[in-house]
Amino acid sequence: MSRFWSPVVQTLTPYVPGEQPKMARLVKLNTNESPYGPSPKALAAIHEQTNDDLRLYPDPEGLALKQAIADLHGLDPKQVFLGNGSDEVLAHVFLGLLKQNLPVQFPDITYSFYPVYCKLFDIHYQTIPLGDGFGIQTADYQSPNGGIIFPNPNAPTGRAIARREIEDLLARNTDSVVVIDEAYVDYGTQSCIELLRGPSCPENLLVVHTLSKSRALAGLRVGFAVGHPALIEGLERVKNSFNSYPLGRLAQAGAIAAIQDQAHLEQTSNKVIQTREHLVAELVALGFDTLPSTANFIFTRHPRHAGAVLYQALRDRGIIVRHFKSARIENFLRITIGTNAQNDEFVTALKEILSTS
Ligand SMILES: *Cc1c(COP(=O)(O)O)cnc(C)c1O
Repeated sequence: MSRFWSPVVQTLTPYVPGEQPKMARLVKLNTNESPYGPSPKALAAIHEQTNDDLRLYPDPEGLALKQAIADLHGLDPKQVFLGNGSDEVLAHVFLGLLKQNLPVQFPDITYSFYPVYCKLFDIHYQTIPLGDGFGIQTADYQSPNGGIIFPNPNAPTGRAIARREIEDLLARNTDSVVVIDEAYVDYGTQSCIELLRGPSCPENLLVVHTLSKSRALAGLRVGFAVGHPALIEGLERVKNSFNSYPLGRLAQAGAIAAIQDQAHLEQTSNKVIQTREHLVAELVALGFDTLPSTANFIFTRHPRHAGAVLYQALRDRGIIVRHFKSARIENFLRITIGTNAQNDEFVTALKEILSTS
């Protein structure tokens, strides 16, 4: 605390990211990073771009990267917005599209950065409870709102809803923007991006992606949003009032190569999905209730063991998972899917904990 903090800073409750511990030899299953490296082509592109050109500012528009994303998804580059990680994209979305007279709506259990942005930008919000089984029920989003945002699959539950449900929501909700945060879409969820192709692109659908999860580039900081060109233009106005160069030369070069290496994405995502299914089966055998996941993490609880206790016991054995001390989910653990070897270490530790407590 300092008397020099502005009044708004005094009121903030910043987002707390999963820790990045400094201890060696950890099984780190807490922040949904990929256990596999990024595309070797992305690394090569970053190496190649590591030269004297770094004295020059990067392309402020990131046009080559926008073109690569547009090509991959069958869109026009004018439908693409870039940011320094999708968290930055989301910040601009909240300020530029979701700060309206009516409250923005999102699930009561969801990505905990959303209420943080609302606080920062002084945006009213309303949380809509997840239904039974912790699923998003789009029918509950009926009242007038200044926008709707949720991840699909949702975080930290891992549960997805069908694209058809989002189409129904869009058909009903025509007076505000619907933002689908598809951070984990590559692990078995239907993307909404194809709704944006061609002349039938809805005016009010925005889809947000990150290269941090399935493309294994959390350290590079690249995210993007795709939607109607008029929505993108609004976001560009915010971005160009904040930072003209959010993506450096290395980030742009690496992201282009990563976006173009679809084979690497598919190969690594498939491995994650296989390990996930294996883990889910092992957890059933240990008596855990696990929500159905189409993400690179699972959300699970044991009927006889408190989440906080399991979290600490795992931690004592060098295994870091994520535990949220929030109402309704305090007995759940969110476990990132690692390699098969990490998974085995995790399950072995869990068996030991359950047998001794
Ligand atoms: C990880 C995550 C993000 C942010 O990713 P960046 O690393 O900032 O690109 C956004 N939304 C959700 C739901 C996430 O889990």
